[in-house]
Amino acid sequence: MTAKVTVIGSINMDLVSQAERFPDQGETLLGTDFQTIPGGKGANQAVAASKLGAEVTMVGCVGDDTFGQPLVTHLKDQGIFNVNVEPVTHAPTGVAQITVAEQDNTIIVVPGANAHVTPEIVKQNEKAIQNSDILLLQFEIPLESVEEAVNIANQYNTTVVLNPAPMQPVPLDLLEKVDFLTPNEHELTELLDTEEKKRFNEQYREKFFVTQGSAGVQFVENGNETIVPSYNVDVKDTTGAGDTFNGGFSVALAEGQSYSDACRFGNAAAAISVSQFGAQTGMPEREDVLRLLD
Ligand code: ADP
Repeated sequence: MTAKVTVIGSINMDLVSQAERFPDQGETLLGTDFQTIPGGKGANQAVAASKLGAEVTMVGCVGDDTFGQPLVTHLKDQGIFNVNVEPVTHAPTGVAQITVAEQDNTIIVVPGANAHVTPEIVKQNEKAIQNSDILLLQFEIPLESVEEAVNIANQYNTTVVLNPAPMQPVPLDLLEKVDFLTPNEHELTELLDTEEKKRFNEQYREKFFVTQGSAGVQFVENGNETIVPSYNVDVKDTTGAGDTFNGGFSVALAEGQSYSDACRFGNAAAAISVSQFGAQTGMPEREDVLRLLD
């Protein structure tokens, strides 16, 4: 049985300029290179899951502009089974304007159409959520839409994986309703910002699957803390590591794999992705992951 995963989340075009140095305020500087690269956490995780063998439904919004349609076409080209992405006319496609210089970068993200993924749009996709093994969510769309999606998933017993990134203040009842939380270490610290949430973390430790970069993933099963180590690779570009992990972890859970096997699958996929350039371009096919797992 093919794993069915629905992703409701952001779709961006990354506009990447390279320069010898960063411009000063008010300065115009000649750059050395420019690329447009499809991104957004939602789209990245959807592409990862699709490449890893799941039947993926992607729900999101783009603008009715130059970037919107190419991004929709791109998602279809990546094998996404069902692209439920309508262009909105009142906002631009989400963009991340990235400047790379001096071995560092600066980034401006304009959410644009991603801020218009409303609870109504989520509701229109109730059937997809119902028919999925896993609903995979992030925080690059409005919180009330994430909440709506989780409520629908709970209604149909669809398992929810929430990657709480980028971190924002999260109501406790939302955390209670999700099955798996996949923060990185930095996001975990931000997530547990109140005594109440720290108590929540104690109470629901088994929901937390904390990614720890090259160290792998830490979680608690039957009261025992476990780390599933990652794979040793020659690191080229860690962009999208977390997104690839989340895609892989969700596919494996949807297939009914154990928690530690799902972590192993996610780790292997993410390790391959960091050994190649680009977020989506570095994401592996299922066969590559199975070869590494052997
Ligand atoms: P994020 O990309 O969200 O900051 P992490 O840095 O924790 O998250 O990375 C997510 C996952 O990607 C890790 O759990 C691991 O599986 C994999 N990963 C990240 N960095 C490396 C690395 N240097 N070598 C191997 N795997 C890595």
